[in-house]
Amino acid sequence: MTTTTTILEAVGVPESVGRAIPDAATRETIGYAPIHTVADLDDAVAAARAAQPAWAALGHAERSRILNAIADDIEANSEELAVLLSREQGKPLNGPNARFEVGACALWTRTAADTPIEPEVVFEAGESRAEVHYDPLGVVGAIGPWNWPMMITVWQIAPSLRMGNTVVVKPSEYTPLSVLALAEIYNRHLPDGVLTVISGDREVGAAIAAHPDLDKIMFTGSTATGRRIVEASAGSLARLTLELGGNDAGIILPGTDIEAIAENLFWGIFINTGQTCAALKRLYVHDSQYEQVVEALAAMARTMPLGNGLDEGNVLGPLQNEKQFDIVSALVDDARENGARIVAGGSAAPEHGPLFYQTTVVADISDGARLVDEEQFGPVIPVIRYSDVDDAVRRANASTQGLGGSVWSQDVEAATAVARRVQAGTVWINQHGAINPHVPFGGIKASGYGQEFGVAGLKAVSAPKVIQR
Ligand code: NAD
Repeated sequence: MTTTTTILEAVGVPESVGRAIPDAATRETIGYAPIHTVADLDDAVAAARAAQPAWAALGHAERSRILNAIADDIEANSEELAVLLSREQGKPLNGPNARFEVGACALWTRTAADTPIEPEVVFEAGESRAEVHYDPLGVVGAIGPWNWPMMITVWQIAPSLRMGNTVVVKPSEYTPLSVLALAEIYNRHLPDGVLTVISGDREVGAAIAAHPDLDKIMFTGSTATGRRIVEASAGSLARLTLELGGNDAGIILPGTDIEAIAENLFWGIFINTGQTCAALKRLYVHDSQYEQVVEALAAMARTMPLGNGLDEGNVLGPLQNEKQFDIVSALVDDARENGARIVAGGSAAPEHGPLFYQTTVVADISDGARLVDEEQFGPVIPVIRYSDVDDAVRRANASTQGLGGSVWSQDVEAATAVARRVQAGTVWINQHGAINPHVPFGGIKASGYGQEFGVAGLKAVSAPKVIQR
């Protein structure tokens, strides 16, 4: 018996009482997830409320020690976690995928543990002095998506725990086993009630949003669901961090060495087979280099290995679920029917499994097309022509979303000047989507509000309290 089986056995339940979770690539059942209800949620919140004072009383040093022990344990179990994640989510073990995600879980846990957060003196004059202290909020409810299920859960729970909160987390109904496995490792080190996973459906998510006894909701998912959470939390006035959808634009400035940026550009677009909130989803290229960029991306798209994630050779996988497969197919079909040129890919790849789609590059398409205006969240990039940089910036900013953006040029000063004008929570230069646990991350406009990571992320799960004399 491999250790992978051991973790799955620890978190799975018998078929008679569970929900079958398919392998994303083969669609064979890999295990059964518990079916938790709103009553289970209420019990978990009550347990978290009861456990919170003692957890807060441990203090920063002890909580940090425990979180570092958890990070060590994640590293010690990393291959088992990566195999389960690869099967459930679909992302390959290799490349910037499952092993990378598990590594990020350890790193973000450790960084949440080790980032200093001190009271701030904000005013001092004579006898007067004002300090801001960061206290625990109480109980945090976390709701996650299916694309980076383990890593995004860590983003939500590690800072919350560090700051002395207890947490109830609801994973996406598509990827509960990965999050249950992660929490199993966490709970080897945490007191009872401090962290509970509620493996429920959308109805349980809605009950978290409306729960009267949660102090904060951390949500990562679609903009549509984010709006529902804002409405549902009006009664409790729970604080919110909303990491919502994106439709990130990239702008390649004229005269850029395309060969030098090609690899970063490809992975900025196709990381996790395009199922990434802050992936590059609309690419604006100057007339003078349009065909060169289209061909460079198409050449990589045609040859980058796609297939079952457990095969070490593969770096691109399937769409995680049928709904997302249908969205991607419909957007490409719409582009084709409206005269766009499909330069690479453009159809399903059933030889690999039911939900595989070819890595697709679409040219001769512009703003107003559904594939440009809507979030594709899959392995497809529309490449859009521009002749004037100001116009490219205007079109990039025309979106209702504002998660990320990128500007590409070897002239870093020129790129920075354009980046200053792009409306997004993060604008990258010569990369897209790169994250760092010390650097705040979050969206603007309909991509949400609140920041995660670093000191800003710790403050976001704290109650600021002023002590003044
Ligand atoms: P989703 O909104 O459909 O689901 C997210 C979670 O919300 C799931 O756990 C679901 O059960 C729950 N949920 C559903 N209805 C709810 C309700 N009424 N109240 C409370 N919870 C409810 O999103 P998804 O399809 O899982 O994820 C894809 C989307 O997430 C994309 O738009 C993507 O851009 C976005 N995303 C954003 C980030 C980010 O950091 N900004 C990261 C990853 C994904």
